[in-house]
Amino acid sequence: MTSTEYDVIVIGAGAVGENVADRTVQGGLSTLIIESELVGGECSYWACMPSKVLLRSGIALRAAKNVAGAAEAVTGELDVAAVLKRRDSFTHDWNDQSQVDWLNGAGIDLVRGHATITGVREVTVDGTVYTARHAVVASTGSAALLPDIPGLADASPWTSREATSVKNVPSRLAIIGGGVVAVEIATAYASFGTTVTVIARSGLLGGQEPFAGEIVGAALEELGAIVLTGVSPKAVSRVGEQVTIELDSGASVTADEILVATGRTPRTTDLGLENIGLTPGEWLDTDDTLLVTGFDWLYATGDVNHRALLTHQGKYQARAAGDVIVARALGRTVDDTPWGTHVATADHNAVPQVTFSDPEVASVGLTAQAAEKAGYDTRVIDYDLGAIAGSSVQADGYAGKARMVVDEKRKVVLGVTFVGPDVSEMLQAATFAVVGEIPLDRLWHAVPAYPTMNEIWLRLLETYGRPEGVSAQV
Ligand SMILES: Cc1cc2nc3c(=O)[nH]c(=O)nc-3n(C[C@H](O)[C@H](O)[C@H](O)COP(=O)(O)OP(=O)(O)OC[C@H]3O[C@@H](n4cnc5c(N)ncnc54)[C@H](O)[C@@H]3O)c2cc1C
Repeated sequence: MTSTEYDVIVIGAGAVGENVADRTVQGGLSTLIIESELVGGECSYWACMPSKVLLRSGIALRAAKNVAGAAEAVTGELDVAAVLKRRDSFTHDWNDQSQVDWLNGAGIDLVRGHATITGVREVTVDGTVYTARHAVVASTGSAALLPDIPGLADASPWTSREATSVKNVPSRLAIIGGGVVAVEIATAYASFGTTVTVIARSGLLGGQEPFAGEIVGAALEELGAIVLTGVSPKAVSRVGEQVTIELDSGASVTADEILVATGRTPRTTDLGLENIGLTPGEWLDTDDTLLVTGFDWLYATGDVNHRALLTHQGKYQARAAGDVIVARALGRTVDDTPWGTHVATADHNAVPQVTFSDPEVASVGLTAQAAEKAGYDTRVIDYDLGAIAGSSVQADGYAGKARMVVDEKRKVVLGVTFVGPDVSEMLQAATFAVVGEIPLDRLWHAVPAYPTMNEIWLRLLETYGRPEGVSAQV
């Protein structure tokens, strides 16, 4: 029988909530997790995993076509039905039993239902009140934001959920938005043969290095997509099977389906925040130990705290939060200094991210613009990724670009962006450099293997010039 009193209660069994609960149980605290939909959350069923599977087959096919010898062996087109079948195997047909089994194995109790915070360390699910001796953790995630465009809500718009769980691929898809989700879904559906129109208010992939959006936009057009930038939808209407989007430019777009990918909103509207003096519908602001501002028992991890809306970063927060909850509960020392055991310092300036478009965009840390805005004395080094021996082996006519942003005062890397096929697997080295604040003169000793694409590091460092004597003085 499920108890009603626990050391820790976690609301939301997405990837992040699961990881918090795992850490608190491993630390010896009894833990209840509450989930209103599927254990595993957005990432497993409607986001990261299905979207990456939908993308992968087209990317693999094009990769083969870009290597002479392999290209000749590729004679057919993408098998869309097989792609969808592979996607279904990853989402387990939207059945969460394997993740429930994992919870059971990890010693985490599960209650299914909608959780409402009804008081201090008190959570109610379907009339049953659960209390937490030490902490309640909100890991409720985020949902797609529907912009206020006349007619949109009545036009049966898709969100990323419909786009990633699609059973019948439409012939025409209009996408409102130019961010990561928009670009990834556009790439996947263009690979399926769908006529994709991307409608973006500004350029693509805002917030990343400007060349990323430019290269990805051109590649999308090569795939057959129509990319409209600098335009906004004015009104949307659906008549039968067809949806029409009127743009502020005076033009209009028609499609079978319309996907809205214009950002996320926190899942806090019905969490009971009003019962503890917070405002429903708002993001939960936290300190670096993930404690919600003004509370000593309420934590927020993952998308809902708006620090970095990425699974890996939420799981990183979950490890810090789980461990600090244990430390505080057991009266152990809390290490909340920057880069300490119990803080999510990397959220601020060292977040790695991949846009799984074709070509991929892999970045970590600050862009040149963000670094300048933050007041760093920066130097920006750009290099043609296609000019690396490893890249030319990887694909015939490999095209890509790399940028390294250097803090001139400390001679360390603040940010790196790679754009090109297969760059995602190069990101971790850049993350080490940024998080480790490795001095550039020491990076000269990190020798990239020949002929791999990692030799981009050598070229970036050579272009920068060899700083002398910094490590020797340490
Ligand atoms: C299309 C798409 C692709 C993405 N691709 C990537 C990617 O490749 N890599 C990456 O790192 N990130 C990716 N993301 C982001 C990633 O999906 C999120 O950052 C991640 O899912 C956040 O995890 P979470 O646990 O915070 O929230 P969620 O996964 O949303 O989990 C929250 C859970 O809480 C439950 N819940 C909410 N309210 C309550 C309540 N009151 N009571 C009980 N249960 C509740 C929900 O049902 C849900 O299961 C993608 C996002 C989208 C939309």
